[in-house]
Amino acid sequence: MNTEQIAAGLRNEILSADRDKLIFNDFQKALPALRDTELYRMFRAMPKGRLMHGHIEATFDLRYVVELALTSNDTYVHLAPETADARYCQMAHKAWFPNFEVPGGWVPMREAVQKDPSLLDTILKMCSSDKENIDENIWPKFEAIFDRFKAINNYRPFFVKIYTEMLSRMAREGLLGVDFRYISQSLFDETGRVLPPEAYVDTVKEIEAKVREQYPWFTVRLIYCYYKGVPVESVPERLEFARTMIEKYPGYILGFDMVGDEDCGKDLMYYAPVLRNASVPIIMHAGESVDPDNRNVEYALDLGIKRIGHGMNLYRYPELIERVRESGMMLEVCPLSNQLLGYVPDLTKHPGGDYIRKGLNVTISSDDCAIFGTSFITDDLLLAYLCWDLTLADIKRVLLNSLQDDKQLTALFLSQWSDFERATLR
Ligand SMILES: [Zn+2]
Repeated sequence: MNTEQIAAGLRNEILSADRDKLIFNDFQKALPALRDTELYRMFRAMPKGRLMHGHIEATFDLRYVVELALTSNDTYVHLAPETADARYCQMAHKAWFPNFEVPGGWVPMREAVQKDPSLLDTILKMCSSDKENIDENIWPKFEAIFDRFKAINNYRPFFVKIYTEMLSRMAREGLLGVDFRYISQSLFDETGRVLPPEAYVDTVKEIEAKVREQYPWFTVRLIYCYYKGVPVESVPERLEFARTMIEKYPGYILGFDMVGDEDCGKDLMYYAPVLRNASVPIIMHAGESVDPDNRNVEYALDLGIKRIGHGMNLYRYPELIERVRESGMMLEVCPLSNQLLGYVPDLTKHPGGDYIRKGLNVTISSDDCAIFGTSFITDDLLLAYLCWDLTLADIKRVLLNSLQDDKQLTALFLSQWSDFERATLR
């Protein structure tokens, strides 16, 4: 038997044992058992290429961050009802509060968890998204989660610890690098000083350098993000900011994206007048929608955009598929994110598998793994393999796509892949 046959056999075993179809319909419930299978271990050991679509603000191990916060006497959690300034279960380092003055409603986090150990699970749950969250208010609820850990993660000493650990874990998960979306959230230091936007990028670079001491091939790149739904007049200033940052960090900051609910009433056509003449590369979330009126993939093609986040609803417009193929547009498909944000109740109905079989330039990513409780990339790859009737050769091609024809990385990946195949045959 070759590796392809071994994997297919293991898949059959798993799928025939999954009588409740949890893998297709509620992967979070299926994951604990899945992670204990031979196939999971195989996917975990597989080389992974680059993670092309992860938001830095939600790409980490949530438990690690909460436990890190609990090591300090200077962290607080907001346990009073939500206000405009503070979410329920929001965490913060003391240096986040102006003049270190902790407002009412916030209590020392460590003491609170010592007094009531069940609070730890409440915090973890409030920072996560599961199928129960899916309703017509999913986007406001989803976006609120980001507020709950930003005042911990952006405390610079924590930020360095968190991402040194996370990038190392990514490398151990087999990734060669990551392209992080980031929204220039400002870091703050021990004195409470809010640092300039360059400090954010410099800090990521510093962390990358440290991680490369152990994993010399591992690289990080950033994509600067703004928000969908903002007035178009506000975009040129952000584009100009992105341009100055790209000039300062050439090759390190790749381009400009706009994030948020695509069906907020302002589509790419609305932003086209400013995006069309932009002096920076545009990389755009598009097609993360089931709204019958959402034509963002078409508008992205019209704008000459070469790389889009998701592209999920392309199947609604079969006439565009040839254009997507010819243009070489990369689709950064995020299957598990799509299920947890309510776009695909049954993963077998996700169009990603068809896009791969049609030879489109598909990559697979986790989007916001901290919130979804998934790994950096293994879970998304494995579920795609289980639910889309793919071959291992398909998975290999998807991973190669993430290397964007970089000769050195491709050679490294192919040699890792040979080692991987040899190891599965042992
Ligand atoms: Zn995204």
